[in-house]
Amino acid sequence: MARPHFLPYNQPEVGEDEVRAVSDAIRSRWITRGGLTSQFEEQLAQLLGVEHVVALSSCTAGLHVALLALGVGPGDEVITTPMTFAASVNVIEHVGAKPVLVDIDRDTGNLNPALIPGAITAHTRAIIPVHYAGHSVDMAAMNRLRDTYGIPIIEDAAHAMASRQQGKPVGSFGNLTAFSFYATKNLTTGEGGALVVPDGAMADQIRVLSLHGMSRNAWNRYHQGGSWRYDVGVPGFKYNMTDVDAAMGLVQLGKLEAMQARRTMLASRYLEGLDGLPVHRPVVREGYEHAWHLFPIRIQGDAVAEVRAQVIGDLSAANIGTSVHFIPIHHHSYYQTRYGWKPGDFPEADAFFEGQISLPLYPSMTEEDVDDVLEALRHSLTMRLS
Ligand SMILES: *Cc1c(COP(=O)(O)O)cnc(C)c1O
Repeated sequence: MARPHFLPYNQPEVGEDEVRAVSDAIRSRWITRGGLTSQFEEQLAQLLGVEHVVALSSCTAGLHVALLALGVGPGDEVITTPMTFAASVNVIEHVGAKPVLVDIDRDTGNLNPALIPGAITAHTRAIIPVHYAGHSVDMAAMNRLRDTYGIPIIEDAAHAMASRQQGKPVGSFGNLTAFSFYATKNLTTGEGGALVVPDGAMADQIRVLSLHGMSRNAWNRYHQGGSWRYDVGVPGFKYNMTDVDAAMGLVQLGKLEAMQARRTMLASRYLEGLDGLPVHRPVVREGYEHAWHLFPIRIQGDAVAEVRAQVIGDLSAANIGTSVHFIPIHHHSYYQTRYGWKPGDFPEADAFFEGQISLPLYPSMTEEDVDDVLEALRHSLTMRLS
């Protein structure tokens, strides 16, 4: 029954075009931030229909400088979700502020906007929603909160490149929005990220913060006619993208639409094949386009943690890789020690986590691969739930 070859949980869609572009970038001898990075920023801005995009070394860097640009610091609170990767919350610690978690909506895995007003205090300075798996958070609801309470929103869009709602792409809702180009994400530069910024002054501030706090970047200094003089007005960070990364990113941008079409097709096959199995399938709300970064399922029933472990083991024995997204923030030792959080504190996130499994989904998978996963899953669930 096991596949002859292991089906990895994830694999980046990179090939000879990326190799050629990266080689060309290296041969040009301009390998740090330069013309290609600017070109990548411009094309990304055009794709999203926004004016200001700053390419960075990671999404985490983007979230960090976003908080700094908003002046968030010690004594401040930032609202976010327990159902995320540690980076979304670590950055709040980095600036010395306090994370405040709000429970999720169990259908989408996204933080529940209706619970946010109850978590807002006089110290709340920002909200970081995470577009879980590629299904975006209701941005009309989020922007209403932003405008009612005057609290800025930083969207963690690590999963949400090419995700849309009401016809508009994530990144275009007028907030600071951080994308990830990490190896597993829908568009990759190996490591990399970008921050969409609502205005030019803040974009300039982000550029300075992400390059040592210097008033001029290397291009401005070392390019012909550049001046050697610069000032450090703030102790910034080393968070820039490089032209080697951007070379890969430009190729990836060119094939994003095709990659997304492939993800959507494979996801539909999963959705159809899972019909009738005792699992909750990912929900796609009316008016939303899922980016299908992940294909998260949840085993139905109560106390499913044990079944989940068995199913992951069965799939592994069938030569199929899986993952879990995410171990909730309040299950991690640092956050438990620091804030006294414990499993059970955010019951929707706890229930979501218990039975959650992410199935393999990436453009180079075949329809037969999807069918193999479905068959192994059906077999396992029949055995374990009988
Ligand atoms: C991957 C990820 C990040 C971090 O992205 P990097 O580019 O690796 O810094 C942040 N948030 C979420 C939800 C992620 O999945």
